[in-house]
Amino acid sequence: MLIIKDISHLKLYLKAYRDKGHSIGYVPTMGALHQGHAKLIKQSRDHNQKTVISTFVNEKQFNKKEDFNNYPRNKGKDYDFCDLHNVDVIFEPSSEEIYPDNKSKLINTYFQNILCDQFRPGHFDGVITVLNKLFSIIEVNKVYFGQKDFQQLKIVEKFIEEKFPNLQLVPVSTERQEEGIAYSSRNENLSKKQLQEFINFHNSVVQFTKSFDRQTQIKEANTLAKNFITNLVDQEFDYFEFRNANSLEIEGKISEARLFYAIYKGQTRLIDNIEA
Ligand code: AMP
Repeated sequence: MLIIKDISHLKLYLKAYRDKGHSIGYVPTMGALHQGHAKLIKQSRDHNQKTVISTFVNEKQFNKKEDFNNYPRNKGKDYDFCDLHNVDVIFEPSSEEIYPDNKSKLINTYFQNILCDQFRPGHFDGVITVLNKLFSIIEVNKVYFGQKDFQQLKIVEKFIEEKFPNLQLVPVSTERQEEGIAYSSRNENLSKKQLQEFINFHNSVVQFTKSFDRQTQIKEANTLAKNFITNLVDQEFDYFEFRNANSLEIEGKISEARLFYAIYKGQTRLIDNIEA
């Protein structure tokens, strides 16, 4: 397994792979790796001869400095994890390597002013800015993204269609812990009590999403969703609502929907989405 920090070296290795006719899969991450990332890695390994992962904590996508500083980081563990999961290359660039002039920022124009874009202004600008850099450096065949970050997946799908038409995006379903919650780097920041509360919350939400007749209109279901979340006294949240999984609009029937939530446990913001 190679650990590469600079772009020129990475490009040399990737060119050598391409010259040998190897297909290359790429898994962009922010490190603090877990079983959700392992699922993406496994898919890439199943589809390609070589798998590259990046572990760059992208400051530009954090709208609060504090959130960036508190984001979990554990390089040693990540190396062991990648080794165990047979990753070929870890790309671990510095901020200076990715943003030499630190100026440019792309503006996202897709799925705006809803869900995370409404509550984390500029977040997706940061996401597509870094992906624009990374995809230009890491020229590969396929890139793997999780449905855990559903709005991100939809935005990246559009962005790739427009700017990197030769790159194939592969969506990967959410890997969940036995207790039901999704694996997430941010779970590491929860106390034992907060983790248990989050598990209870998530499982009650799963039951709630199952309680609807398949023909129910999303709009109607959202009235009940609003009651559900506001009845949970003290549960801070940014959003809790059903949306059409295709358009991300509040339109159509519950059978076409996902329930999207962003809640807080202490300072930790937790997002997930559940098929209705
Ligand atoms: P992150 O390191 O949190 O930026 O995530 C990197 C990639 O892993 C993104 O495409 C995420 O959607 C995906 N991912 C994160 N958690 C999970 C999970 N539990 N199951 C599947 N994919 C995930």
